[in-house]
Amino acid sequence: MANDAGYSVTTLGAALRRWVQRSNLRFLIHAVVAYTWAMNTIDIIAKKRDGLSLGPDEIDFFVQGYARGEIPDYQAAAWCMAVLLRGMSAEETTDLTLSMARSGQMLDLSDVAPLVADKHSTGGVGDKVTLALGPVVAAAGQPVGKMSGRGLGFSGGTIDKLESIPGWSPALSLDDFKRQLRRIGLVIAGQTADLAPADGKLYALRDVTGTVPSLPLIASSVMSKKLAAGANVILLDVKVGEGAFMRTLEEAEALAEIMVAIGTLAGRRVAARVTDMSQPLGLAVGNALEVKEAIATLREEGPPDFTALILEEAALLLHLCGCYPSEALAHDAAQRVLADGSALEKLRQFVSAQGGDPAAIDAPAARLPQAPVVFSLPSPRSGWLSAVNARTFGETVVQLGGGRLKKGDQIDFGVGAVLRAKIGDHVEAGQTLCEIHARTPAEAQKAAERLLTGYAWADAPVQPPPLVKRTIYQQGS
Ligand code: URA
Repeated sequence: MANDAGYSVTTLGAALRRWVQRSNLRFLIHAVVAYTWAMNTIDIIAKKRDGLSLGPDEIDFFVQGYARGEIPDYQAAAWCMAVLLRGMSAEETTDLTLSMARSGQMLDLSDVAPLVADKHSTGGVGDKVTLALGPVVAAAGQPVGKMSGRGLGFSGGTIDKLESIPGWSPALSLDDFKRQLRRIGLVIAGQTADLAPADGKLYALRDVTGTVPSLPLIASSVMSKKLAAGANVILLDVKVGEGAFMRTLEEAEALAEIMVAIGTLAGRRVAARVTDMSQPLGLAVGNALEVKEAIATLREEGPPDFTALILEEAALLLHLCGCYPSEALAHDAAQRVLADGSALEKLRQFVSAQGGDPAAIDAPAARLPQAPVVFSLPSPRSGWLSAVNARTFGETVVQLGGGRLKKGDQIDFGVGAVLRAKIGDHVEAGQTLCEIHARTPAEAQKAAERLLTGYAWADAPVQPPPLVKRTIYQQGS
């Protein structure tokens, strides 16, 4: 058949085929697909940049694309910054959470235990609650299974802290996770390619792109991990103050409320506590130093305020799980497992099950990493301490090498600081404010100068801030 121009269709087809072969049209097609994909990604970034709402499909496109490696880090970083600056509605935050939870498998733990408990902090300085709370709750008979994160910005991370125990590993297969939960009732895993991988990637990216302190990004990061890891009773510890991502009580309450709402929507039993982070929690800040303090607490030799918090949170979680008819009875049980050593034994079992050296629990000073230089920072004046800025401590520990400045940085587990006085304490001029654990005298000196900027003194007595500001229970409970 010939057309008006006189070419036969078959001749034209053959010519086209030859041209495709010669001109590598396949590459052209791929380029067009990639361009269309990039355009969608750019549109989604621009829409959020301009303050518009994203639909569930757009959020899912972005999250799954990033999890699969189809969207590059630089576009994901731009999107995170747009979310940080423009915010998200409750619907968008819920869609983001569900999409991140679904980026991997969703664990069903019903064949392991009727109820599995989890506790998660939004991030603070010196926050080693999980290290002591998990063993207490598990020793009191309630299985605890959770997925934790690494340090984020100036705040520490449970996984980094635990990795200071020689041999301990957060890398567990889903089968290992269940097996350990069944066997010893306590498991803490790191992010895997199987569980909420989108959060794993975004979390590491946010850490180094200044995009951590965003309510929707924190809420979705925390809750996607919680939903994917399968626990059905969740206690959220929302930190507020200078050393937290939420600086004001209003912001912290809003974060607590949205996380409780998302958990409830997903059929979980959830409560949230808003707790103080104006000064570091307990005394130790820094990975191995915090593990030592958690061990001391399980030996009943920890700081009294930190021990009181652990017992209160354990009581709330045990009561939420229905293990005890009242928080008071649950509190008694928590105290018992601390006093009889069973919580400490649970920590040993847990460390050993994940490849760690259980002897480190019995001889932490000898077996955990220790910085070569310990420098005592003297108080330049006398008075009542009115500020011990948690953020300054967090940032200084990162600067000492205890946190990451860019993706993949190696952490020095031994460095950090140990407070010798807290808000409300009276100090004399020359008295030690804190001990700085550093790699070199020069680094210790630099840290001392920085830490001093976070202290303030008053001439009259100062009330220490209350640790617990508010508890938010889910509606209907
Ligand atoms: N903890 C998380 O898991 N994610 C955040 O974004 C902050 C704290």
